[in-house]
This record gives sequence, C-alpha cells and structure tokens, in this order.
Amino acid sequence: MSTNADFDLFRTSEDHEALREAVRAVAEDKIAPYAAAVDAEARYPQEAHDALVASDFFAPHVPEEYDGVGADALATCIVIEEVARVDASASLIPAVNKLGSLPVILDGSDEVKARYLPPLAKGETTFSYGLSEREAGSDTASMRCRARQDGDGWVLSGQKSWITNAGVSEYYTVLAVTDPDGPRGGNVTAFVVEKSDEGFTFGEKERKLGIKGSPTRELHFDNVRLPGDRIVGQVGDGLKIALRTLDHTRVTIGAQAVGIAQGALDQALAYVKERKQFGKRIADFQGIQFMLADMAMELEAARQMVYVAAAKSERGDKDLTFFGAAAKCYASDVAMKVTTDAVQLLGGAGYTSDFPLERMMRDAKITQIYEGTNQVQRLVMARQLLK
Ligand SMILES: Cc1cc2nc3c(=O)[nH]c(=O)nc-3n(C[C@H](O)[C@H](O)[C@H](O)COP(=O)(O)OP(=O)(O)OC[C@H]3O[C@@H](n4cnc5c(N)ncnc54)[C@H](O)[C@@H]3O)c2cc1C
Repeated sequence: MSTNADFDLFRTSEDHEALREAVRAVAEDKIAPYAAAVDAEARYPQEAHDALVASDFFAPHVPEEYDGVGADALATCIVIEEVARVDASASLIPAVNKLGSLPVILDGSDEVKARYLPPLAKGETTFSYGLSEREAGSDTASMRCRARQDGDGWVLSGQKSWITNAGVSEYYTVLAVTDPDGPRGGNVTAFVVEKSDEGFTFGEKERKLGIKGSPTRELHFDNVRLPGDRIVGQVGDGLKIALRTLDHTRVTIGAQAVGIAQGALDQALAYVKERKQFGKRIADFQGIQFMLADMAMELEAARQMVYVAAAKSERGDKDLTFFGAAAKCYASDVAMKVTTDAVQLLGGAGYTSDFPLERMMRDAKITQIYEGTNQVQRLVMARQLLK
C-alpha cells in the first residue's frame, strides 16, 4: 500500500529546494558576472571563492563537529550543480574541497580530522587530492610516488599530475607507495601533505581547453619529510580509501555536469524565444522544439540519476560503486551533448564568446575525463554487474 511518505521519496525536500534558491541567488549575483573574464584570463575565480566562503557553500560537506555546516550528499550536489550552472570552474571549489578532504572524513583519525577539517570548513584553505601521475592515470595502482619510512615519520618523493587547485590549497591528500614489493593496490598509503612542507613544489599551470579558471598543476616532492601523524587510515589501505572516496565524489561530478547542462539549456531557451528567421521565432520551428525536448528530457534523467546516487552516497548503500559511476558517466555524456546542441541552437552566435555557450561546451568536456574517464566508469559498472 502506498502512503504519502512513499511519494516523498521521489522528490527533493523543501529544505533542499530552499538551499537551491539560496545558492542560485549567490551564483547569479556574485559568480556569474565574473565567469567570462575568469575564462578569458584563465585566472582563479577569487570572487567566487570569496562568495562561497561568505555563504557557507565553500566546503558544505564538512560535518558540524568540525565547524562545518554538515550538508548531506544531496545538498552538496545541489550547491555544486547551481554553481556549475553559471561557472563550471567555480564549482570545482566545493567539489574538490570534498574530494581532497573525504579520505580524511572517511578514514582519518580523530586527531587528523580535528587538525585539517576546521580550517577547510572556515574557508581558510581549499583541500586538493593527489592520486594521478603522468604514467599512472586510469591505471592508478601503477603509481610511482614513494613514501619511505624514516624513524617515526616518512620521506616522500616523486610527482603527481593534473592536480586541481594545486598551489591554491594548503592541504593535499597524497597517495604514495609505501611497500614497493607489496601486493599491487595493497602497497599504497594516504598522507596529508601541507603546502609549506619543505621540498614540496608545483609545476607550471596547465593550459587547458576548458575550466580555465580552475588551476591544474603538478605536485613535486623532493624528499619531503612527513611526521608519522600525517597518515590517513592504515598503512597499505591508501588505494582502497582513494577509490572509496571516488565512489562518493563521482556523484558530485555528475552534479557538476547537470549544472553545466542546465546553464546551457537555460541560455538556449532564452535565445530561441527572441531570435527570428523566416518571419518567425526560431522556437516556433518543430525541428528546434524537438531538440529542446530531447535536451530537457536527457538532462532530467541525468539529474534524477545523480540525486538517487547522492542518496546512496549519504546512506552508504552497497551499490554506490555502480550508481556513482553510472551517474557520473551518464550525466557527463548528457552535458557534452546538451552543451553542443545549445551552441547549435544559437547558430553563429553560439560559436562566439559573446555568449557563454561555447565556454559551457568546452567546460562540459572535462566531466567525461576526470575522476576516471567514462571508459573507466563503464569498466567499473561492468565489474559490478559481472561479479
Ligand atoms: C583538468 C583536470 C583536472 C584533474 N584533477 C585531478 C585531481 O585533482 N586529482 C587527481 O588525482 N587527478 C586529477 N585529474 C586526472 C584525471 O583523473 C586523469 O586525467 C584521468 O583519470 C585519466 O587519466 P590519464 O589522463 O592518464 O588518461 P589515460 O589513462 O592515459 O587514458 C587515455 C585514454 O585511454 C582510455 N583507457 C585507459 N585505460 C583503459 C581501459 N582499461 N579500457 C578502455 N579505455 C581505457 C581512457 O579512457 C582515455 O580515453 C585531472 C585531470 C584533468 C584533465
């Protein structure tokens, strides 16, 4: 027998929708006006950073006991979605704050949590995540970055590639091999590395197709000494922690993709109602209407999938691995398609930087690549199906 409570399972709560309104207001007023300049100048979105700190949308996932606002997984997705709707680069601030700090939240000791989470919650620093290496992208277990035990502490050497907010963040969760002769995947440990640690430097900023406001740099470790209390979780558990983190944070990349696609659809809808050709609004052509309907339909399917995955992330459901990969993969493919179609709907104007659509199309592409490419997401899903 169905009850009203059953139906409530299929809609977001009033609190979640009030949150969306609040984030949208901040995004429209304080982030959107700078998005084109941030992209053109390939500069850090400092205005967005400051607005996110001031509104408590900077690292909303941090639990209340560590001075955060303790947003649930769906609320965090809504924050990222609404920021991405106007500026994908800026949405990487809350997204990567969760990615970098989630290993600490999931597996850090009480001391590590108490040291590193409050400064993040207060907006004093961003938190980055160092897993990928030049020669170990999809194949993370083949990483070479090495931490050698030295007395009570560790000495870190090697490099990490493609690290978001590198140079901006004070804190980095870094994965390194601690037992070179140990079993593949079971020989890696997670550490927190601080920007001020001696021997820790950064590569040049990558020049990218999109998300140009989000700095991406290499991390270089030249015999960086880490005290023993920098370990996150147990020695040898690093890769497990890193992959479990991604199960949760792939959902947030799905949310980012949904936001980018929604931003593009909103822009396209406004344009087709104004633009006239052959004596009519182009919105009155059925060929255009069918495109709009497909864009909205696929976008809504992606959003529902992300929200279901977010609920699974919050509850820690066993099938999160499948749903996190599916939500990220599906939503990012939809974002690429919707932004490409949105450019098409504006014709020549869509191809110019007078409108934000070409930026949104460039920004959408990264969602198919990072936190595991969409080929890797399909491998993850297939592994779950076949096990
Ligand atoms: C802008 C940006 C920001 C990033 N931020 C971070 C970050 O903050 N932290 C971090 O740790 N990493 C980050 N990354 C790294 C990102 O996660 C990797 O680029 C990604 O996982 C792919 O690795 P790769 O680039 O080495 O590609 P490769 O692994 O070399 O893949 C190349 C191609 O081969 C395909 N491929 C590989 N293996 C298989 C397979 N088994 N079956 C089928 N196809 C396969 C891939 O799908 C891809 O199409 C970022 C990357 C970018 C571009």
